[in-house]
Amino acid sequence: MSGRPAGRSLAAVEIVDVVVVGAGPAGAAAAIELARAGLEVVVLDRATFPRDKCCGDGLTTGALRSLEELGLRPGTVPSWNRVDGCWIRSPSGRVAAFPFPAGGQFAAVARRADLDRALVDVARAAGADVREGLAFRTLAWSEEGVTVTTEDGSDLAARYVVGADGVWSPVRKAVGASGPGYLGDWHAFRQYVRAPGADARKLWVWFEPDLLPGYAWSFPLAEGVANVGFGIRRRPGTGPTVGADRLRRLLAAPYVEQTLGSGHPGPAALLGRHRGRGPRPPGRRRGPGRRPADR
Ligand SMILES: Cc1cc2nc3c(=O)[nH]c(=O)nc-3n(C[C@H](O)[C@H](O)[C@H](O)COP(=O)(O)OP(=O)(O)OC[C@H]3O[C@@H](n4cnc5c(N)ncnc54)[C@H](O)[C@@H]3O)c2cc1C
Repeated sequence: MSGRPAGRSLAAVEIVDVVVVGAGPAGAAAAIELARAGLEVVVLDRATFPRDKCCGDGLTTGALRSLEELGLRPGTVPSWNRVDGCWIRSPSGRVAAFPFPAGGQFAAVARRADLDRALVDVARAAGADVREGLAFRTLAWSEEGVTVTTEDGSDLAARYVVGADGVWSPVRKAVGASGPGYLGDWHAFRQYVRAPGADARKLWVWFEPDLLPGYAWSFPLAEGVANVGFGIRRRPGTGPTVGADRLRRLLAAPYVEQTLGSGHPGPAALLGRHRGRGPRPPGRRRGPGRRPADR
């Protein structure tokens, strides 16, 4: 978005080329490219990094190539775990293995807390001014620029603003681009579990009849941990509680227990809290422990 800061004196505010709101992968990537192009970039994020993000932590081939282009080095991401194949279970229970080609890295799993912090570091090294723990509050614009107001009441003037602030994007709302009542098309839930089984070192995609066209997954992290979750199309009644129940049933399925190694040498213990993410019912506020969905 571009436009003149509305109703304020430019002399009173800091002026930059671009303000990027959100320092997740989208915001960090935008900031890296813009800073490398020689623009003065400020990135705002309400969180302080490392911060967690509810996610499967899986990196596809396309994501890996993009991260390489951005200059991210896997060695700077402590939990980075390369995987060399994908195991798929059909709704009828048939399992097929798809080894990746030799001579390259085609998939990896990395905790978002680590990955996103490393990307923020790349953005800073590229010259972006990343301001953590500072939330976007609102903006005003005209033909020549945008004024962004942050939660501490200060203003930043810019030629452009990039809204990279997640699925519930306050920037999108501030510019009136949010459709009324839109809650997202998908729910997704994930849980870190202790997974001592040898098969838990593989990357699994499980197609379950009741989840289609969604699917469940187990993505291997280092130190015997797996990220297990599922995504399902939003339907009436599929709120976070339904998701938590379905995740428990998924974890109790015999083929999942066998994969994760619950029977040998010990039970697959849940690590941390269930991190279900689904849209809230219209008009209902989230409590402090329930942050907006962030698919
Ligand atoms: C359960 C689940 C599993 C998933 N699994 C995968 C997977 O395996 N692989 C994959 O590629 N994708 C996966 N995804 C999707 C992936 O998580 C998102 O696509 C990705 O995080 C989007 O990145 P982003 O940078 O756009 O937004 P985000 O990563 O959400 O970053 C947005 C940033 O904006 C900040 N922000 C929000 N509001 C403000 C504000 N007012 N002021 C300042 N900053 C603000 C937030 O703090 C945050 O840091 C999954 C999603 C879910 C929910």
